[in-house]
Amino acid sequence: MGKQEDFVLRALEERDVRFVRLWFTDVLGFLKSVSVAPAELEGAFDEGIGFDGSAIEGFARVYESDMLAKPDPSTFQILPWRSGEGPSTARMFCDISMPDGSPSYADPRHVLKRTLSAAADKGFTFYTHPEIEFYLFKDAPEAGAEPRPVDRSGYFDHTAQSRGSDFRREAISMLEAMGISVEFSHHEGGPGQQEIDLRYADALSTADNIMTFRTVVREVALGQGIWASFMPKPFTTHPGSGMHTHVSLFEGDRNAFYEAGSEYQLSKTARSFIAGILRHASEITCVTNQWVNSYKRLIGGGEAPSYICWGHNNRSAMIRVPMYKPDKGQSTRIELRSIDAACNPYLAFAVVLAAGMKGIEEELQLPREAEDDVWSLSERERKALGIQPLPRSLYDAISIAEDSELLAETLGEHVYDFFLRNKRAEWEEYRSQVSAFERDRMLPVI
Ligand code: GLN
Ligand code: MG
Ligand code: MG
Ligand code: MG
Repeated sequence: MGKQEDFVLRALEERDVRFVRLWFTDVLGFLKSVSVAPAELEGAFDEGIGFDGSAIEGFARVYESDMLAKPDPSTFQILPWRSGEGPSTARMFCDISMPDGSPSYADPRHVLKRTLSAAADKGFTFYTHPEIEFYLFKDAPEAGAEPRPVDRSGYFDHTAQSRGSDFRREAISMLEAMGISVEFSHHEGGPGQQEIDLRYADALSTADNIMTFRTVVREVALGQGIWASFMPKPFTTHPGSGMHTHVSLFEGDRNAFYEAGSEYQLSKTARSFIAGILRHASEITCVTNQWVNSYKRLIGGGEAPSYICWGHNNRSAMIRVPMYKPDKGQSTRIELRSIDAACNPYLAFAVVLAAGMKGIEEELQLPREAEDDVWSLSERERKALGIQPLPRSLYDAISIAEDSELLAETLGEHVYDFFLRNKRAEWEEYRSQVSAFERDRMLPVI
């Protein structure tokens, strides 16, 4: 047993932990949890805890269903909302393995780990910093009803006794208590819409942190008698919720995106990385934006991108190179604005990194930056500039993903097949729905 495992076993006693939740994520990004008694943990560290993989979305077929969840001791945390006075509850993220001990081909955390280690072989560490947006509603969702936001405020608004700031304060304290550092938080553009930005960290920790974040935000909302949602576009007329993600590569302690004196301080590595993401953007969109509803956000307006381009400080671009301070080379990074907060963060980071690394491998050249507001250009002007649209629907995104070698390679055959099958089924179900929009348009006139 290693040092970290020993630390966890000691902490269980010192903190009077009675329940340990073992967390992992299904292929679509939903959190799964199994609770074990502390006495079981030594065994769990050695051999893992067995479960039925065929009951988890995307994991296994019934005839090969036995899987093991092995807790990662470096992710041990006490859950603040289950631990007041008296005994407490803790959690750890797990790696999933097959009965023979080999990593499960269906585990999204493994997909990311595999992609990170391919980048590590080339000397790179991948860092991510997500800006997570979500709405707060007055009540739990009711079928067919328009949700009611908790306030009428907008971007950066500060109003006395606002639900939003009370909410953010409690959620942030809880995140900090779990070792997740928050950098900024504010009211976002829509009524009841909030944003909380996590401090940058290596991509695996960030993905774990995002899973924790979603749980914390939902728990705090329930505790305050309100409802939180990361749905990408809950309203037709208000902005959607994105998860802009700032990314950079480091080589040891050095930011590999930084080059003093070059344009926007971007190194050749950074330029090829951006070029790689642009080239593969439409293939990876079905992972970074995985729901029918995701595409209602990517429609243009509300500062969500809808065209594949990059720009310096250009908020209509899919990739933005943020303002830089001349002496701050270590913070050089790019902001990917298409990704939404309802993605599976492990898979989303994996495909973004894989696309960027392809750009580096192939020494791709960066196309010209988009200087104008790409939304206000005509179709013709955009064509002349070589600016392609992002997929306009889940259907488009799936069709492109079906031919993507990059996606098949990065996700692995099992996850790739399951994912596309599941998304096709979602599209088919959606396609057959008759909506209020159609009735309201047609019944009065036809
Ligand atoms: N809500 C916008 C989006 O969906 C972003 C708004 C902002 O952060 N400026 O991407
Ligand atoms: Mg922001
Ligand atoms: Mg924002
Ligand atoms: Mg942003």
